[in-house]
Amino acid sequence: MVTCNDQSRLMLIIIDQLRADYAEHLKKCSDILPYPAVCDTYSFPASTEAMHTNISTGKYPNLHGFTSKIAKNNLSGLEQLIEKLRNIELPSLALLGISNNFKVYAIGGKEETVRVMGHDTDCELLAYYNKEKSKDRFVYNTQNLLIGQFLDYLFNTCHYKRVPQQGWDKRALDIFNNINSLDDNEKRFFILTLSSLDKIGHDYGPHSEEVYNHLSFLDESISAIIRDMPDSPVIITGDHGCRHTTRYLIEPSKENPQSIAVYNVAEDYIKFENEYLLKSFEDIKDIQYDGGILRIWLNSGKNLCESDLNFLSEHGYVFPHYINQGHADYELIQLYENSRHENLGDIFVVAKGDTTFCKLGWITDTETKGNIKRRRDLILGNLPIGEHGTYHDEDRKVGFLSNLSTINQTLKNTEIYSIIETIMNNSFHQ
Ligand SMILES: [Zn+2]
Repeated sequence: MVTCNDQSRLMLIIIDQLRADYAEHLKKCSDILPYPAVCDTYSFPASTEAMHTNISTGKYPNLHGFTSKIAKNNLSGLEQLIEKLRNIELPSLALLGISNNFKVYAIGGKEETVRVMGHDTDCELLAYYNKEKSKDRFVYNTQNLLIGQFLDYLFNTCHYKRVPQQGWDKRALDIFNNINSLDDNEKRFFILTLSSLDKIGHDYGPHSEEVYNHLSFLDESISAIIRDMPDSPVIITGDHGCRHTTRYLIEPSKENPQSIAVYNVAEDYIKFENEYLLKSFEDIKDIQYDGGILRIWLNSGKNLCESDLNFLSEHGYVFPHYINQGHADYELIQLYENSRHENLGDIFVVAKGDTTFCKLGWITDTETKGNIKRRRDLILGNLPIGEHGTYHDEDRKVGFLSNLSTINQTLKNTEIYSIIETIMNNSFHQ
């Protein structure tokens, strides 16, 4: 299936929040990778961690379970996933690589996008940005002494410390260029996960000037890299898309845990609309607000009362009730089946249209937080303009480019694993 002659080097680039219609802004890359496609997440939620894991494992969330950084019982979703990779309970791109004699290098920004690519021991290199306050810098994991020494030197320079997310892509691409230039005759599989566009899309909204500027930076830098490897298989894909959001259901504060504030974008400000008090609060074990979805775990034998269900149904599709009431079509039921996992909650709500379930932790500005507490109106930009996570096309359909002529024009992100497997098998048998 592969048209490329040199399969000793393989490249997968995942651009965080690359909507399907952004691919046309990657003109230089498209010239080199002439086979575009639209890739579908085909599962809930269309979130960064869940969708990078779909890509790495070739499985949907019903099997890998990494639907969010917060798992059931407030456990760490990333640690759960890493444990599964360690115990080889799940496939991963890194495991696929080493079983086909490839050295695997996963280099990127967001920690989870890199670490879901494979367990430490299966990768020649893992490099990502560690956001913990004590670190706040790029870090790496490698057994390769030469790479280790080199990255010790590089990461100790100021360019790799205290870098805002908007700047991670440039560093990740620089790390790749440096590692790539270290001479190595072995077969190498590079996975680059680029996180900056996601931050820009959340802050400024889809199709904003800021988004276009970054796409143009990516087009320039990535095309310069892949121009130098014309015979190697290269895939560029997104993880999820982005929607404009104008309605916010804001997570209650600790002091007022029953009360959801509803905000709406009016002409040129964000208007406080109303406050809803959850009546089933006593029956709820935990709620997680996560952009496109809201996840609710209930105390045993309990359910949400009619009034709460009605409130949530105004703003989203409440599962499994939506299916039980006979409202969901075949595709939506399929998406639900692909995603069903204890980490998705006993009840979960997929945001409708321009609604978002806004996590309180996303609002870092103390003045905005105070205004929300007092139910005051907000100014535009105080809350995210772009969000994702739902089943809507804008969230689900992502851009895909490659130099592989036989890939269909529409595919699901879980198929990327088998595409890479086929490429590696071809190479292995040469
Ligand atoms: Zn993402």
